[in-house]
Amino acid sequence: MTEGTRPEGSLADIPGHSGRDAVVIGGGLAGITSALALADAGVRVTLIEGRPRLGGLAFSFQRGDLTVDNGQHVYLRCCTAYRWFLDRIEGTALAPLQDRLDVPVLDLDKPEGRRLGRLRRDALPVPLHLGRSLATYPHLSLAERAKVGRAALALKGLDLADPTLDTQDFGSWLTAHGQSARAVEALWDLVGVATLNAVAGDASLGLAAMVFKTGLLSDPGAADIGWAHVPLGELHDRLARKALDTAGVRTEVRTRVTSISSDENGRWSVEVPGETLHADAVVLAVAQREAYDLLPDGALDAPEKLLEIGTAPILNVHVVYDRKVLSTPFLTALGTPVQWVFDRTEASGLRDGQYLALSQSAAQDEIDEPVAALRERYLPELERLLPGARGAHVKDFFVTRERTATFAPTPGVGRLRPGARTKASGLYLAGAWTATGWPATMESAVRSGVSAAGAALSALGRPRPSHLFSVEEAA
Ligand SMILES: Cc1cc2nc3c(=O)[nH]c(=O)nc-3n(C[C@H](O)[C@H](O)[C@H](O)COP(=O)(O)OP(=O)(O)OC[C@H]3O[C@@H](n4cnc5c(N)ncnc54)[C@H](O)[C@@H]3O)c2cc1C
Repeated sequence: MTEGTRPEGSLADIPGHSGRDAVVIGGGLAGITSALALADAGVRVTLIEGRPRLGGLAFSFQRGDLTVDNGQHVYLRCCTAYRWFLDRIEGTALAPLQDRLDVPVLDLDKPEGRRLGRLRRDALPVPLHLGRSLATYPHLSLAERAKVGRAALALKGLDLADPTLDTQDFGSWLTAHGQSARAVEALWDLVGVATLNAVAGDASLGLAAMVFKTGLLSDPGAADIGWAHVPLGELHDRLARKALDTAGVRTEVRTRVTSISSDENGRWSVEVPGETLHADAVVLAVAQREAYDLLPDGALDAPEKLLEIGTAPILNVHVVYDRKVLSTPFLTALGTPVQWVFDRTEASGLRDGQYLALSQSAAQDEIDEPVAALRERYLPELERLLPGARGAHVKDFFVTRERTATFAPTPGVGRLRPGARTKASGLYLAGAWTATGWPATMESAVRSGVSAAGAALSALGRPRPSHLFSVEEAA
């Protein structure tokens, strides 16, 4: 880095500029969002990212001619903050939503062979929008389907503001509400494992209720699924970078912050190799452990709580076939270790054959398994799942392992997650792990970035840009 921040006085001379400086540390979705929101309000922003690219936990890399995402990412129509982010970086058209929720669910455990069910919605009001799909869902008995309906209504009645929800686990609540082990596997965990990154028995009732109430029981279209039809890096790195540049943010990658401190006037110093950046506000948008390491003394009442927030892994298994073996954009499965399978062919730039990515959440048991063992397990499973794979040639097989993909959504985690404000004036926290009410998702990251920027702008006496109000209201 060469350029230091300009003296405060000169900034006020720039038309439309507040004469205030902010440094945002961490170029994941939380940090990018904060930087954009602050810059949109006229603050002069420097964004610092340790890695060579923006996007944090949601990124792409090259493997020969293939552009690979580190992990399949999806979002839902109810993810209003992430959708705002997509709009802000002009990426909405590249990550479209389904017109209507439609999830093919293949069960391999049926004695009569593979059986396809679908989770779909109608145009009817909540909760009737799922009624027909549930009534015909073949992977549950009639009695189980009726009980699912009753549990969904009970879930709808839970008050998300009730802190005792976070002290209970979702699995016990489901059992107490008449859900069989099969109903948990074939319905609740099917959705919950992918969104919470934990099975019901390991998940906070508060977070699970939040996901199911918002996604399935708020608005008929809330759970329609969206995903990037381009590599994640195209959105979270290239387009994000373009938006930051246009907004006037100075972005530095390959630059790690080593310490932060403030002086008696409340002015912050951010140390990076070879330079000290000065700022009126600092947003620390890094993972919880890194935040703990960088937080100055006294910034949080009990900083050690950050270290109590557990993490959970996600494994992605990537298979390139010499031909098309999956005819839908994605599917999910029962009676097999395979969780969700996505067709990544077009997004990856593959010209011949088909590239599938298997997204395996809550992968504690498999995350450290050798590639050979995973290959031996997953290729035969894919052949069971997709008859077309039986005669197909596997051109490439590899895995991506994210050991700390998300924070662990365990009961009690809510009391460990800090809000955006710290006790140190001018220092704010952001990150999917902060207290957004959401599990560790892109939505949570963007919401946290908006909250941190909003708090900083209030303290700087800057009006928030009007577009931030709508995101904050939704948040
Ligand atoms: C495999 C996988 C699959 C996922 N699937 C989904 C999904 O389907 N849907 C969904 O919504 N979410 C999903 N997630 C979660 C989602 O990716 C994250 O919640 C979100 O990206 C977190 O963003 P963040 O900005 O909070 O943190 P991060 O992405 O962790 O960003 C923090 C950044 O800070 C940087 N940093 C750390 N220390 C320093 C330092 N000292 N100096 C400078 N920079 C520093 C890091 O390099 C990093 O880039 C998935 C995650 C993974 C890994």
